[in-house]
Amino acid sequence: MAPQDDNLDVVEEAMVAEVEKKPVSTIVIIIAMQTEALPLVSKFQLVEDHDSVFPKGVPWVRYHGTYKDLFINIIWPGKDAILGVDSVGTVSASLVTYASIQALKPDLIINAGTAGGFKAKGANIGDVVVVSDVAFHDRRIPIPVFDQYGIGTRRTLLTPKLVKDLDLKVGKLSTGDSLDMSPQDEGAINANDATVKDMEGAAVAYVADLLSVPAIFIKAVTDIVDGDKPTAEEFLQNLVAVTAALDQAVTKAVDFISGKCLSEL
Ligand code: SAH
Repeated sequence: MAPQDDNLDVVEEAMVAEVEKKPVSTIVIIIAMQTEALPLVSKFQLVEDHDSVFPKGVPWVRYHGTYKDLFINIIWPGKDAILGVDSVGTVSASLVTYASIQALKPDLIINAGTAGGFKAKGANIGDVVVVSDVAFHDRRIPIPVFDQYGIGTRRTLLTPKLVKDLDLKVGKLSTGDSLDMSPQDEGAINANDATVKDMEGAAVAYVADLLSVPAIFIKAVTDIVDGDKPTAEEFLQNLVAVTAALDQAVTKAVDFISGKCLSEL
């Protein structure tokens, strides 16, 4: 048995090496809010999919097209069918990530969006942060090992050359399903050593990992969580301007990725 297993390992390693040498071709960009997604849709001249790859009746929207040598898909979870607001948060993000991977078999996922930043960690409004690690801050399960499962820390795909080329900050991301921050969340976010806080990233990372698709996370700071302004107010005030910075960074990232394989990022 053992020699055969060793052979299989060798074959598998060779296959992984081969995949890593192939230039990235299909990209799925997961974006939670319409305001964040639409400028990129026009920048890449994407069109909305009318023959949906998703199940009938779901609000999820796919915009797609070719840009340079890349097949780009922007996936937006759409508006809540009853309330009409963007379907933000981890549940929608996980579902669209899963469905997009199943339907489109991407070589790479980019989760782009706005986030709250911590000035104690050097974040300023308008900063664009490439995420090195993700974790959850609102999944408290105080039982040995389940506690770590709840936090769900994972590393993202390392992209040192992309970070250097775009001259972006690198930091850790903490994800939870609330825009505000309870004292309990605050403790967990500090323990996660987070520079930025959002409502989707760690969920996208979980699904991408589950299905072995590399993922990167580009987050732009709309509000300072440890500052003196109320989060919701600051978020809305900065959303449009910061989205422009986010979209510029995502465009540059896509330009950088074009023609390269994963190991060159
Ligand atoms: N009131 C907003 C609600 C959007 S929720 C609206 O007009 O629709 C906030 C979105 O931005 C989420 O997708 C989340 O990932 C991100 N975000 C920005 N700042 C955040 C913060 N301080 N905490 C958590 N998520 C934040």
